[in-house]
Amino acid sequence: QMILAIETSCDETAAAIIRNGTEIVSNVVASQIESQKRFGGVVPEIASRHHVEKITLVIEKALKDAEIEPKDLDGVAVTEGPGLVGALLIGINAAKAFAFAHGLPIIGVHHIAGHIYANALVQKMEFPLLALVVSGGHTELVLMKEHGHFEVIGETRDDAAGEAYDKVARVLNMPYPGGPHIDRLAHEAEIGVEFPRAWLEDSYDFSFSGLKSAVINYKHNMDQRGEEIIPEQVAKGFQDSVVEVLTTKTVRAAREFHVKQVIAAGGVSANKGLRSSLEQAFSKEGIPFYVPPLKLCTDNAAMIGAAGSFMFKSGVRSNLSMNGLPGMELKSWSLA
Ligand code: ATP
Ligand code: FE
Ligand code: MG
Repeated sequence: QMILAIETSCDETAAAIIRNGTEIVSNVVASQIESQKRFGGVVPEIASRHHVEKITLVIEKALKDAEIEPKDLDGVAVTEGPGLVGALLIGINAAKAFAFAHGLPIIGVHHIAGHIYANALVQKMEFPLLALVVSGGHTELVLMKEHGHFEVIGETRDDAAGEAYDKVARVLNMPYPGGPHIDRLAHEAEIGVEFPRAWLEDSYDFSFSGLKSAVINYKHNMDQRGEEIIPEQVAKGFQDSVVEVLTTKTVRAAREFHVKQVIAAGGVSANKGLRSSLEQAFSKEGIPFYVPPLKLCTDNAAMIGAAGSFMFKSGVRSNLSMNGLPGMELKSWSLA
C-alpha cells in the first residue's frame, strides 16, 4: 500500500510517500520559518501564499524522491484540521485535484492523530498506549486502546506548551520559534530561577499561562530594579517547571491506565530536557517509552501518511466534498 500524504495546516508545506503505514519512502518539508521570523510568529495570509507557491513543487519532489509515478499510489491522505483554514485548504485542494486526476481515494487526517502516528514510522505501536501530545497548539494526554481510538484524558486549560515556549522566548528576545532556543539556553545554566508549577490537583489537565506570567513578571521586576536577568537561568527555571509537570502527570496516567507503551508527539517533544526526563522516568517505571526522531516531531507529511494509511486499512474514507476544519476535534476513527 502506497500513500501520498500532504500537510499544510500551519507554516510547513509538506508531502511524503509512505509504504504500508510504517515506511517513509520520501519526505519533503518546505519550511516558512525564515519568512515568518520577522513577524515573530505565523501570519495566516503569508502562510497561505507560501503554501500556494510551494505545494506543487513539494508534491512533485516527494514523487521524484520516491521514484514512483501517480499510478503506483493507492490513495491520498491530507490534513483536514485543525489549523489555519486558508493554509489547510491549499493542501486539501491540491489533494483533491491529485486524487481526482488519478482516480485515487482520499482521506482527511486529524493533524494531532498525525503527530501521534509519527511513532508508527519508527516502532510498532502497542496498546493500551498513552500519548503525551505537546505542540504549538496542543498539550494533551491521549489514551489509545487500539488503532484509531483516541480518548483525551487531560488537556491544557489555557496556553499550549509550545505557545508558552514561544512567548517566553520572546520575553528573552529570542527569535521565533523559540522552543529550540530556550532548550539550548536551559542547558547552559547550572541553576534556574524558581518558577511555580501548576498541578491543578489530581486532574490530568495542564495550565501554562501562570508560568508564562511569572516569567514576564520576573523580567519586569528585574528591569524595574535596574538589574540584568540571566537568560540561561530564566530558561532553565521555565523549562524545569514545564518538564516536571509534563513528566509527573504522564507517569501518573501511565500507571492508572496500565499502559503497555508511552509515546511523546508534537513539536515540543523535540525538547532535550523533556525527552531525557521522560526517558529516565519510564525506564524507572519499567514501561517502554518512545519519541520520534526530531524531524518527525515537528510538522511533516510523513506522519499524516502514517495515520492515513492506518485509516485506509480500517476502511475509513473521505470524499471530494472535504473542507478545511480549523477547529477539528480528535475523534476515534470508528466514530468518524
Ligand atoms: P499543532 O501541532 O498543535 O497544530 P504546530 O503544528 O504549530 O501546532 P508543531 O509544529 O508540532 O506545532 O510544534 C511547533 C512548536 O514546537 C513551537 O511552539 C516550537 O517552539 C516548539 N518546539 C520545537 N522544538 C522545540 C524544543 N526543542 N523545545 C521546546 N519546544 C520546541
Ligand atoms: Fe503540529
Ligand atoms: Mg509548525
